[in-house]
Amino acid sequence: MSEINILSPHVADLIAAGEVVERPASVIKELLENAFDAGASNITVELRGGGMTYIRVTDDGCGMLPEDAGLCFLRHATSKLRDERGLESIGTMGFRGEALAAIAAVSRIELLTRKKGSDVGTRVVLEAGDIVEMAPHGCPEGTTLIVRDLFFNTPARLKFMKADRAEGSACVSVALRCALGRPEVSVRLVKDGADEFFSPGDGKISSCTYSLLGRETAMELLECSSNDEGLSVSGFVGSPKAGHGNRTKQFFFCNGRSIKSQLLQTAVEQAYKNTLLTGRYPSCVIYLALGFGSVDVNVHPAKTEVKFRDEKKIFDAVYYAALSAIEGESGTAEIRLSPSTKAVASPKKDFFRSMGANEFREKFAETPKADGPSFAPRPAAPSEPGSGRGTIVWNRTPGKTAGNTAVRESETPYRAEKTTPPEALKNDTQTALSEAAGSIEDARADFRLIGEAMKTYIIVETGNELLLIDKHAAHERMIFDALRAQGLKIMSQSLLVPVTVRLPADEIELLEQNAETLEKLGFEIEPYGADSVILRGVPADTDAADAAPMIEEICDKLRKNASLSHGEALDEILHTVACKAAVKAGRSTAEGGLLEIVNAVVSGKVRYCPHGRPVSISLTKKQLDKEFSRIV
Ligand code: ADP
Ligand code: MG
Repeated sequence: MSEINILSPHVADLIAAGEVVERPASVIKELLENAFDAGASNITVELRGGGMTYIRVTDDGCGMLPEDAGLCFLRHATSKLRDERGLESIGTMGFRGEALAAIAAVSRIELLTRKKGSDVGTRVVLEAGDIVEMAPHGCPEGTTLIVRDLFFNTPARLKFMKADRAEGSACVSVALRCALGRPEVSVRLVKDGADEFFSPGDGKISSCTYSLLGRETAMELLECSSNDEGLSVSGFVGSPKAGHGNRTKQFFFCNGRSIKSQLLQTAVEQAYKNTLLTGRYPSCVIYLALGFGSVDVNVHPAKTEVKFRDEKKIFDAVYYAALSAIEGESGTAEIRLSPSTKAVASPKKDFFRSMGANEFREKFAETPKADGPSFAPRPAAPSEPGSGRGTIVWNRTPGKTAGNTAVRESETPYRAEKTTPPEALKNDTQTALSEAAGSIEDARADFRLIGEAMKTYIIVETGNELLLIDKHAAHERMIFDALRAQGLKIMSQSLLVPVTVRLPADEIELLEQNAETLEKLGFEIEPYGADSVILRGVPADTDAADAAPMIEEICDKLRKNASLSHGEALDEILHTVACKAAVKAGRSTAEGGLLEIVNAVVSGKVRYCPHGRPVSISLTKKQLDKEFSRIV
């Protein structure tokens, strides 16, 4: 008995309808989805002339009964949906019964199909939707569908087709997406007689990804997964070291269906905040598996968009899965010595004794003594009446400012321990620094500080590896994280001599608009005339000499990023503050300071600078041995 039924007009009306056959790539997608729905284990797709002249899809799925071989080309003919109740939980790729009818209407079709277990198959030939031949035929179990001369009878549509090359590559990329979504099915694609790709179909997302996206992409991917009541997330996200200029390497699948989703894209990209350079995009292959009732696939005719019933739950699951993959990544970029030294994915460096996050945070946020290490922002001096916080007055009354300056200067006395330039402080307190950091090293003696090179890079030995650390980048990150962890209450450090900064009127306006944020971050700013501001206080640990450049940089960022949300603008400002407060390349740093940075990097706490650049690279003994030809 026939398995295909014709949907009633009522059910047909409930379906998101629309053109499905726009170009050869849409044919490939529909035919591949039919093969998946037929339970195929092996599928071969062959195309010629960009898919315009010839597309053949062969599968070893369930095949069709002779009576269905003709029926399947009718509109709303489907074996996957009976009535409207079925629409609420669709578990197949297709359900609309429209694809074959639409494809047949604009091409010449040959169908060979044999139901599993049947003795004989059926061959059907159609031209522009009309059956011209139908007869029993010997063929293997499964289905082969050949589509020739697409749009031969619709010259207007034909005109819109791009060159064969462009159509051909669109076919390949659609087929690749489909294949990537079904690791349990082996898909082979042959284009103009040459193998384009092949997936092994062993059910492993790793081998599927590797074979379809290539070694280079696969090597930059980090595994991610999460599982929560009826929702599983699995797949890979790219290492932040390997950002891309666009999103073409982002793949999302929902129950095996390739989907476009702003929600999932945002969830993944949010996880890279402050680890990926601005303007770079992560790669990812994310598989969602959830109950068929939790997602509505009937919202778009091409079924590439879906509607999740619980968007927040999905967002969180993907965000945290991606975040934990990124955070779990080994902290160092591997050095590439020469083309002959093949890049291999960094193995997990379990010989790094990692300091627990809490232990580290305690150490780092520890309140230092007055002469202690200057790596963490110091606590605020008790605010004096009329000074410090809450005193920013954006009042441009002429004449007020000059007098006010004098008063404010005496109200906010210079504090030696707060305004000593950081470098000087670090040298004066070298012993204290070494002592403090030495105790950290004792506790975690799994690295040896070799020294500082070029006043810029720290060289460290850890087991079988040499680490080169960019001290400024690493320290910048430590400060950035610490500032954020403090809930953005940053101590202000009064300047001995207030600094006047001349700025264009619109930038003064921007500072005014962001006055509250800047104040929290430790800036004490007052307007001064129409074209200047006076800086009386800067965030603790920043250099007085950096005060004006810092304000200029912040203005510049605020101006360029006028569209940023509050949180993003804050991060931009924090980047500037962290950068200025960090130890500088080109100036030597005391050993204690270096050790503190090394600890943060080796423990895995610090891996990327706030702009997303790696803070360290590693050089393994094996790599060195290879370079010196000790081993081959
Ligand atoms: P839909 O996939 O939405 O049901 P189609 O027009 O794509 O609609 O296909 C119509 C019907 O033809 C399917 O429901 C299925 O029963 C049958 N069919 C299509 N392709 C295959 C195939 N490769 N193997 C077995 N049956 C198929
Ligand atoms: Mg279909």
